[in-house]
Amino acid sequence: MSLSNLAPKQGPVIAIDGPAGTGKSSATRRLAQALGYVHVDTGAIYRALALLTLEKKLETPALETAAAIEIARSARFEFRRIVGADPENRILADGRDVSLLIRTPEVSMASSRISAIPEVRAALLDLQRRLGCVGRTILEGRDIGTVVFPDADLKFFLTASVEERAKRRLYELEISGKDAPSFEEVKRQIELRDHGDTTRSIAPLKRAPDAIDIDTTTLTLDEVVSRMEGLVRERVS
Ligand code: C5P
Repeated sequence: MSLSNLAPKQGPVIAIDGPAGTGKSSATRRLAQALGYVHVDTGAIYRALALLTLEKKLETPALETAAAIEIARSARFEFRRIVGADPENRILADGRDVSLLIRTPEVSMASSRISAIPEVRAALLDLQRRLGCVGRTILEGRDIGTVVFPDADLKFFLTASVEERAKRRLYELEISGKDAPSFEEVKRQIELRDHGDTTRSIAPLKRAPDAIDIDTTTLTLDEVVSRMEGLVRERVS
């Protein structure tokens, strides 16, 4: 996890961090389109790893940890953009498109658990740096501005109240046609994930000192994107 592993950037890299439900993914997708940058959803990598681990149906936390480390070191995770598909940004795990399978509450909770394992984070770090360092990339996650690209050209940290984030997540689940849990249950899961993500000992969710804060609680997606786009155009050559 040392900074000496940092591959030289071949162009601008933008870091977008923040907790679940702040509108990070939608905003990053739209910002990448507006700027003609590549969108790297690092959460999708942790989710794909969690899915592969859950599929092993292991019975104890120790077995799950060992499997997650082994899979993080050996599996091949790739992104592919399929124009017109929903979603357009697909993630492949060992060649299998898992883009839809990774969006369940079960995978959300497992990815938060598994992402706290130091060996897992170390194994996925190089991949994230390789995907980002080609330049004209926007990486979104939890530790992009602090660990993956501390030298990013511009960093944003998105926040929103937990109530607003639960409302948005519930809406997403409802429109996806899945059996949605109650508002209270969604809020509880977000709080649990926040707790896990901010208190883990390695690479916790934390604002980089040089990140620009955007509180999205009362902003529309358009407002968030246009604020970020304006700042990128002004500050990144
Ligand atoms: O962003 P998303 O909610 O899809 O991420 C799923 C989980 O992956 C998060 O709850 C977090 O625990 C983990 N994650 C991480 N570091 C990142 C991106 C995601 O630990 N850079």
